[in-house]
Amino acid sequence: MDNESTLSTIYSEDVSLMVVILDINPLFWTSVNSNTNSLTFTKFMDQFLPLLNSVLLLNQLNEIVLIAHGINSCGYIYNSSMENRRGGKRGPAFFAEVSEKLKEFMEADCLHRKGAKSTSTIVPSLLSGSLSLALCYIQRVFRSRPIYPRPRILCLQGSPDGPEQYVAVMNAIFSAQRSSVLIDSCVLGLNSAFLQQASHITGGVYIKPQQLDGLFQCLSMVFATDVQSRSFLQLPKPAGVDFRASCFCHKTTISMGYICSVCLSIFCKRHKKCSTCGSDFNRPNSNSKSSPVQKSKRKLDDR
Ligand SMILES: [Zn+2]
Ligand SMILES: [Zn+2]
Repeated sequence: MDNESTLSTIYSEDVSLMVVILDINPLFWTSVNSNTNSLTFTKFMDQFLPLLNSVLLLNQLNEIVLIAHGINSCGYIYNSSMENRRGGKRGPAFFAEVSEKLKEFMEADCLHRKGAKSTSTIVPSLLSGSLSLALCYIQRVFRSRPIYPRPRILCLQGSPDGPEQYVAVMNAIFSAQRSSVLIDSCVLGLNSAFLQQASHITGGVYIKPQQLDGLFQCLSMVFATDVQSRSFLQLPKPAGVDFRASCFCHKTTISMGYICSVCLSIFCKRHKKCSTCGSDFNRPNSNSKSSPVQKSKRKLDDR
């Protein structure tokens, strides 16, 4: 209770800082383009940019930070608090500016990729990097201002989860939970176990819209609402959360596996040595040589 009352004095409750993480994975958006029924990137931007504008219009003090991530890079695209100081743009000028910056970012991300071999499957985007950037920005706001807006993160994800990012993403999720930062997720492609867990753990909303044509309505009804108002609204409830983890050896999603007792790394098969911390699973304990009980146990195991 004490904690809650101190939080309410620090936060200005109806003012939001929304950090939007946008997946601009070119492989995902070009695969979408080939399917005529689905949402193209241009159509998506037509529905997405009004969301940013409407959040800024809901309260003059609201702030928006846009972070984009592609396959190889992530970076800040737009920060409304910095733009306001420069006499920020609104309406069409704002849309044009953000679209232009996103285009530049997408081109730069593709250049990074040039060395990589081309694949037909969609390569995962750098979600972990973007989440870390978002949390770093929020921490900076926490530390640099006496009163700050209530932060939340909105992830708009299209490409599939990258199991190799499992540890980084989970660390970011727990860090967000510790700083009471909600992670909302809107998934445009396949369901994402990472984001299901992120929203579940931090108390955010996870949705996978069925009708992408009316995406703006969905985005504005669910994600434009500030954290304070959510207690009065009936927001969509998750159908289920995929709690499975990724093994560290093959980076595949597993429901059962082996865990290193030293560093908690997860493996799908039994290994002789932990690839993360180097612990030897076959080596007996240092005092086991003098212990006959341990010795006989090992002999039994060997048979
Ligand atoms: Zn494995
Ligand atoms: Zn280990």
